[in-house]
Amino acid sequence: MIAAAPALAILLVAPIDLLALEAKAESKPVVAQDARVAGDRERTRFIADLSKKVDVHVFAMGNPYRVIVDAPDVSFQMPDGIGKEKRGLVTAYRYGLFAPGKARIVIDVSGPFLIDKAFVLEPRDDQPARLVVDLVPTDEKTFLAKLKEAKPAQPSSEGQAMIPLAPSRPADAKPVVVLDPGHGGVDPGTSSTTGITEKEVVLTFARTLKTKLEATGRYEVFLTRDDDTFLPLRGRVEFAQKKGAGLFLSIHADYFPQQIDKATGATVYTLSEEASDEEARALAAKENFSDALAGIELPSDSDEELANILIDLAQRETQNRSVVFARSIVGELASKGTLHTKRLRSAGFRVLKAPDVPSVLLELGFLSNPDDEKRLTSEAWRDRNADAVAESIDVYFAKRVARNPF
Ligand SMILES: [Zn+2]
Repeated sequence: MIAAAPALAILLVAPIDLLALEAKAESKPVVAQDARVAGDRERTRFIADLSKKVDVHVFAMGNPYRVIVDAPDVSFQMPDGIGKEKRGLVTAYRYGLFAPGKARIVIDVSGPFLIDKAFVLEPRDDQPARLVVDLVPTDEKTFLAKLKEAKPAQPSSEGQAMIPLAPSRPADAKPVVVLDPGHGGVDPGTSSTTGITEKEVVLTFARTLKTKLEATGRYEVFLTRDDDTFLPLRGRVEFAQKKGAGLFLSIHADYFPQQIDKATGATVYTLSEEASDEEARALAAKENFSDALAGIELPSDSDEELANILIDLAQRETQNRSVVFARSIVGELASKGTLHTKRLRSAGFRVLKAPDVPSVLLELGFLSNPDDEKRLTSEAWRDRNADAVAESIDVYFAKRVARNPF
């Protein structure tokens, strides 16, 4: 979908100026029914039709250029397939839950810009209430100066290196498995040509797998998200650490437009600083872009480096265990499921960076491939493959117990 990950993003909020405008209204549940982009490169207007007036907070972000519109409790009932048309300064937009009770629209902009106007109109005559955001082009210097003028809404904890301690658990406690359905809410992930989204497919799979694992009576299982809400990558990692996870499995579905019919089946990934190959690197960049897509700040390069030094020691043992688990999944899927490659692949996936939790990322299949799409949405396929993954988790923990009987 998007192959470049920016190293640095800037999130700054201006109270009242050209980069951040508040439009006040009563806050009640509101439905967003449609949206469109009008105008040209000199002035581009984004319009969303709403069932009634709502408070919005509109602000700019850089690297990549985006406009963020936040509003409480808006439910989206937009027509399928909107948000992909390029017009004027706008290259795409997406919408969804950003956090429980917090809706977000993210508008991608092709270059430096100013938010000239942002307001919500009362419904009038036969017109619904409307959110209107007007963008005008500017130069990079002015854009950055405006961002600098603005102050962050709240101090961000993103980018700080930390190694949370896992909660102490009784020795006979069941191992904790954390399943992480990728994307969600404002970030749909990739999608098939018929509009099946990655965020739906992976949530359904994760729920099925959770049920199967719980049925064994051997594990405590948690989902990082159990609804259509966005969750930042770091939030997923921290969730696993706070739960004292013995295993973390991030579940995704891939898209490979260059080989629509050829690319098929599951692929298993672990974390490494050096990507195993160019495709793995591109995939990690795409998956890591999730936060940027949803309009949150990314940690800067220097913070990442610091974190890497701190976690290196803890990570080596965790890394070995991750590979053992990844091999176990490959083994089970090779015999019972559909595997893209038996080769373990690795790259710098942010979501696998818990220093103390063995972590693996599973791409279930390719939504770009119509056959895979059928499989990914079939209950029989899901059942069989969830069985295989559950089996691989059994194999992993059986080995761990055999090695450390006390
Ligand atoms: Zn994904």
